[in-house]
Amino acid sequence: MHRKIMDISKRRGIMYPSFEIYGGVSGFYDYGPVGSRIKQNIESLIRNYYVIDEECLEVECPTLSPEAVWIASGHVGNFTDLMTECLKCGEAYRSDHLIEEHLKKSCEGMHISQLNDLIEKNRIKCPKCGGNLGKIYNYNLMFQTFVGPGKNKESAYLRPETAQTTYLAFRRLWEAARKKLPFGVIQIGRSFRNEISPRQGMVRLREFNQAEIQFFVEPDRKSVENFDEVSKIKTRVVTKDDKEFDMSLESAVKKGIMKVQMIAYFLGRSLQLFERMGINPKALKLRQHKDEERAFYSTDTWDIEYISKIFGKIELVGISDRTDYDLKAHMNLSKQDLTVSYEGKKFIPHVIEIAYGIDRPFYCVIESCYREEGDRTFFKFPKEISPYRTGIFPLVRKDNLPEKARAVFELMKKERIHAFYDQTGSIGKRYARADEIGIPECVTIDYETIEDNTVTLRDRDTKKQIRVKIDELTMYLMNKM
Ligand SMILES: [Zn+2]
Repeated sequence: MHRKIMDISKRRGIMYPSFEIYGGVSGFYDYGPVGSRIKQNIESLIRNYYVIDEECLEVECPTLSPEAVWIASGHVGNFTDLMTECLKCGEAYRSDHLIEEHLKKSCEGMHISQLNDLIEKNRIKCPKCGGNLGKIYNYNLMFQTFVGPGKNKESAYLRPETAQTTYLAFRRLWEAARKKLPFGVIQIGRSFRNEISPRQGMVRLREFNQAEIQFFVEPDRKSVENFDEVSKIKTRVVTKDDKEFDMSLESAVKKGIMKVQMIAYFLGRSLQLFERMGINPKALKLRQHKDEERAFYSTDTWDIEYISKIFGKIELVGISDRTDYDLKAHMNLSKQDLTVSYEGKKFIPHVIEIAYGIDRPFYCVIESCYREEGDRTFFKFPKEISPYRTGIFPLVRKDNLPEKARAVFELMKKERIHAFYDQTGSIGKRYARADEIGIPECVTIDYETIEDNTVTLRDRDTKKQIRVKIDELTMYLMNKM
């Protein structure tokens, strides 16, 4: 199935490895002409939800920032993976992954010395060449570079997450939010991690897209007024001690499994967003971070995971109570005051962070929407996500049908309906092509059109065809959006 999906993706311009003509570099993917549209739609869904419904402010910050930012955040010191290199061929491995693959058990939370022992005791060798492995060490995942020329150039890093860059302008954001709590800030953009050996296609990228939302709140007020809008959502919950339940968000909060109501609320909202994107809700689980995996300052952290048929668990969003840790760290290093005076109290706001990947949900949408029916393959994208709203096809390339079809296409443009015009090959092949990029409904201009100004509208999922008047076509397509 993965092969088929990748084959269609490359052929139809959904996604493909970057730098292909130079042999490619793992951890980098291009969004093709069709994939870019789908990615934009996924981003818009998240953006519109947070900016419109949750009244978030939106910012865009540089992807490159000076070293001080990442010293304060702890990334220079701690943003590392454990790595080991083959002494013979030089291949690098993430030690924990290598050992887990070999022993088929988790080694989460183990120290370097324990992992070194495991490699030695189990005689684990380089999977590529069978050579001996070197001692494990901490490898920093940030890409380092320099700003400016000559001797005075400054050390800088490509950001490994957007969140820190949002925090830096906190004082200006506080002003923009009219000095009221809570308020949220969303940033959608690229981040970079120099992963040791990314081998999971789009799931682990070295340059990737994120949508990260920071809600600044009072330290003792982490609840939301409209929790009841999501509280009845029932889903699979995996607690930090690996117990699994099917339960509602409401009972997870009542039983104290979810410690922060705001986290439960945004888990519910995220489940709704993923479902709207077309991700199979039955493949989703909420998973609480274990004590040793959670940042020491955080009171509670949850992920939503998608269980992929190809890659296993894929983390789509992480929701975390980051307390005042980040603002305090930047306050200490920058010597700037980041406290607020609010309702007679002076304090550093706490942060509830919702961190979405974009590329991973994109992949999960592709996997979830993929369908095979007989010899037909198609993507059952929801209309909100589909790369085009409709396709416009003349039945044949003669008898004035192409001209008529172009006129309908121009009408779509005028109404801002994104349509795909195609007159190449047989009509059957054009439908198949439209199915393979998941266009929900296609319009065919045929001989009847010349007589009565109606067109054929064909549904991707049922293959049913109906006739619609050209005059009513735009309204029809817009109403059904
Ligand atoms: Zn080797």
